Amino acid sequence: MASLVAQVPILLLISFDGFRHDYLSPALTPNLYALSQRSTVGNMRSLYVTKTYPNHFSIATGLYVDEHEIINNKMYDPTLAQPTFKPSTTAREWWDPHNRTVPIWTANQLLGDDRVSGSMMYPGSVTPYQGMVPVHLKPFDTVRNWTLNIDTVIQWLTDELMPANFVSVYFDNPDHTAHIFGPFSSQVHESLLELDHAVGYLMHRLQAEHLAQRTNVIFVSDHGMAQVSKRVYLDKLIDTSLFELYGASPVWSLWLKPNAMNMKIIIYKKLKRLARQNHFQVYKRNEIPQIYHYSKTPRIGHLLLVSDEGYDIYANASVDWTIDSTVWGNHGWSPTSEDMRPLFMATGPAFRAGYYHEHPFPNIDLFPLMCYILELPLRKLPNNGSLERISDMLATEELYRLTDSVVATDNNHHNSIGLVPVILGGIVLLIGGAMCMTCVASCARAKPKIDYDIDSLAPGLNIDLEFYLDHAGNKQQQRFGKTTLAINQSTSHKRVPEEFRLLLHN
Ligand SMILES: [Zn+2]
Repeated sequence: MASLVAQVPILLLISFDGFRHDYLSPALTPNLYALSQRSTVGNMRSLYVTKTYPNHFSIATGLYVDEHEIINNKMYDPTLAQPTFKPSTTAREWWDPHNRTVPIWTANQLLGDDRVSGSMMYPGSVTPYQGMVPVHLKPFDTVRNWTLNIDTVIQWLTDELMPANFVSVYFDNPDHTAHIFGPFSSQVHESLLELDHAVGYLMHRLQAEHLAQRTNVIFVSDHGMAQVSKRVYLDKLIDTSLFELYGASPVWSLWLKPNAMNMKIIIYKKLKRLARQNHFQVYKRNEIPQIYHYSKTPRIGHLLLVSDEGYDIYANASVDWTIDSTVWGNHGWSPTSEDMRPLFMATGPAFRAGYYHEHPFPNIDLFPLMCYILELPLRKLPNNGSLERISDMLATEELYRLTDSVVATDNNHHNSIGLVPVILGGIVLLIGGAMCMTCVASCARAKPKIDYDIDSLAPGLNIDLEFYLDHAGNKQQQRFGKTTLAINQSTSHKRVPEEFRLLLHN
């Protein structure tokens, strides 16, 4: 039966909820960072609003948020039999209101009997689309046994009767921890190391099952996370008994109550006046910037309220879960904010190694990318994404396979794009404070990243890392302050990136 799975492409889509793009660093996520040196990393952007459900579903469907209409984690729609939506809602009237939604796991299975999808807790995957759910399916639960979940995914990939060739995997951290303690807390640091250990374990299991060479793995997050310490309570400013708020701070859909329906303009004008002084904004549906592709659906409600970044906004103190905290974390703000920027990293035979895609691209581009890798008929799968925008990520040999007219066929053009700046050196600060800098070659032919065998490093060595180079080649300060990384023989990653060598030899 193993030959069955060998005949079709294998792809894993792995999402870490709320993983900021700058968590990908040598000290915070050593396995993921080491893997990134042999992967494509990209400057992906989330969609508005930068909330969990809208973005996970845009990644899965390639649709703008107002096309799939999952506009927030909590919603209201008076036209539906079940008018309120919360994260546990699976009703098709919410997820597939027009009977035309085809998420990637469905698209894969529609291609034929040798196509089998799996979904490990991925948002939206319990609902049937086109009359089917993933063959292998685990609904969301709050038990965070990542190793067990990875074992289950490996079991699905190697299932004797129905081996999966596409699996989406959802981790509810670091989001869960960062909401409570803030994105730069020691608790988040710990949670990142747990996730990173899971990555090491996943790659180890793929290797052991002889799947590593042929499996493409895309690591993403739905949005970043900002540190928040200020809040706005609307009941101190306006009579909140006139409306209900649906959504989650910092973005709320305001629905007028029946007895206030004729007061829309009055309430709007009052909120507009209050907004200036109180760190929020109010929009009528037609005022929401078109660039967000957010306003087409009536699920927006009568008005949309959004607090400024750094502020949370609630109807009153009783619904503010952060009330006992001085610092916490949240997301939902504009995708152009660096704090909201998510993770994108892809590895496997389809992707270039040691490559950075610098130009920002929206997460809806992942759908055509995944369709391409899975060899699905993209033209029959309506979506808002563009493979052309990110086709430079594909390995050269993959480019020759491209026959779709949406992708430029000028291979020289693509090769020249491939010569974007690749960082060959690093800037690091040693324990003693000595700073060293090696060459930063830009616009040069990509030189292979040099990894160093961890066995050659002294066991027990501790490295203090204050700075690291991100994939765009910019010096980044560790957001958690100086971080000690212990190198030892049991470290699950076998190779270390060049930056570590600089630390060791200077
Ligand atoms: Zn999320």
